Amino acid sequence: MGVQLPELQFTPLEDIPGRASIARKAFLEHKTRDVEFRLVQLRKLYWAIKDHEEEIVEACAQDLHKPRFEAEIAESGWLLNDIVFTSRNLHKWVKDEKAPDIDLSFKFMNPKIRKDPLGTVLVIGAFNFPFQLTLGPVIGAIAAGNTVIIKPSENAPRSAAVMQKICEAALDPSCYPVIQGGVPETQALLAERWDKIFFTGGATVGRIIAKAAAPHLTPVVLELGGINPAIVTKNADPRLVARRMLWGKLMNAGQVCTSQNYLLVDKSLVSRVVEEFKKAYKEFYPKGAKESPDYSRIVNIAAFQRLKGMLDNTKGKILMGGTMDEKELFIEPTVVQVESVDDSLCTQESFGPFIPILPVENLDEAINLANGVQSTPLGLYPFGNKADVAKILSSTRSGGVSCNDAALHVPTLPFGGVGESGYGAYRGRSSFDVWVHRRPITSSPGWLEAILSIRYPPYAGKLSKF
Ligand code: NAD
Repeated sequence: MGVQLPELQFTPLEDIPGRASIARKAFLEHKTRDVEFRLVQLRKLYWAIKDHEEEIVEACAQDLHKPRFEAEIAESGWLLNDIVFTSRNLHKWVKDEKAPDIDLSFKFMNPKIRKDPLGTVLVIGAFNFPFQLTLGPVIGAIAAGNTVIIKPSENAPRSAAVMQKICEAALDPSCYPVIQGGVPETQALLAERWDKIFFTGGATVGRIIAKAAAPHLTPVVLELGGINPAIVTKNADPRLVARRMLWGKLMNAGQVCTSQNYLLVDKSLVSRVVEEFKKAYKEFYPKGAKESPDYSRIVNIAAFQRLKGMLDNTKGKILMGGTMDEKELFIEPTVVQVESVDDSLCTQESFGPFIPILPVENLDEAINLANGVQSTPLGLYPFGNKADVAKILSSTRSGGVSCNDAALHVPTLPFGGVGESGYGAYRGRSSFDVWVHRRPITSSPGWLEAILSIRYPPYAGKLSKF
């Protein structure tokens, strides 16, 4: 452990309104309107992330036992790519858009859409990808010209402290302050007036956020979890299913909002899929996941006990894994054959390394069951041939879909939930769009009055001229 990490200090509750008002003042003084200012902030953030990459990796290791590979790809590397993509495109995105298909009579008014920043916004991050899910939305908010209050998750405390160090090293403190804390500090933030709140977390807290936003008519983006199904038809390749679904659950020890929550497998394929899970597990972790440097731990004891309770309560049969170590917060990737979709392993979001499998008679049954558990999950994973996948797509809903794969999301596609899994989307160009107001602007020249006077009363006889 060669890297020294800063300590997490919660922000005093009494300081929170003052910090919010400094950010509000900075916005009202138009500090962030200048696109060059935004680009400089993004560039500085890029280099600060680069400079602190070892601290990011170490913080993720201490908070979650996250492997270096996953930390570099899904945390620091992800953010660096995001900044490059955003900075390269920003001049194009901020340009005024001409109104499409204009009638000749409106053309002289030069109608266009300006992309105005919303104002002073709040980003509340999650613990599981602490850097990506906090600073990812912040990158878009900076690019769009907002001032931003950044609230990392207290459940990944070392990452939260490193994030503050990075932000303070890189960003203008009056425009982008970091607030640290747990529930009381988040509630103090929610008592303030915001121009948008972007929350990543569970649906229970999501509802609290939406309620707190309502009195100020503050728009909200809710990036919530999901009870995501994988549907495996009789035409699927069992080896691909097992390798990809295991990957979906070993990444961050299953603490991934998009990872599949349960598998509905055509009964003719169940034993081969289970066999392939065992083979893949041996291949990925020859000495077992516990001995491997490439497997995370559960974030804290409360989450560990919740997961232990879920496994204790299942009526299913454990076919692979099942070992745990409370001291280490270790839970092995665990395949369980369940008897019903009502099993708690299927009906609750596990956010852990459980792989419940329910055998089904056919594709129609799988679709009906999936729509019954949660009709609007965050992700959906169909495995089968083209016709199977097409049928699944046309008879289900979900935030996103990875066909014949686990939680794979191409970073330039919009990412977000639908219904119970949240609303609003970001990533790629959407990370900019989600933070701007598309402000329609017309400019009517004085000489147009000769034509415009047709709109004034008295109206008699004018209708026929339109
Ligand atoms: P959470 O909802 O339990 O907590 C998030 C934050 O909310 C906490 O850090 C806390 O500060 C705050 N909070 C908790 N109770 C509060 C209250 N009563 N009032 C005000 N604030 C309160 O989420 P989590 O445990 O950090 O993350 C797990 C959940 O997040 C899972 O459901 C997962 O699927 C979801 N998630 C979604 C995405 C996505 O992009 N859609 C990504 C990651 C995680």
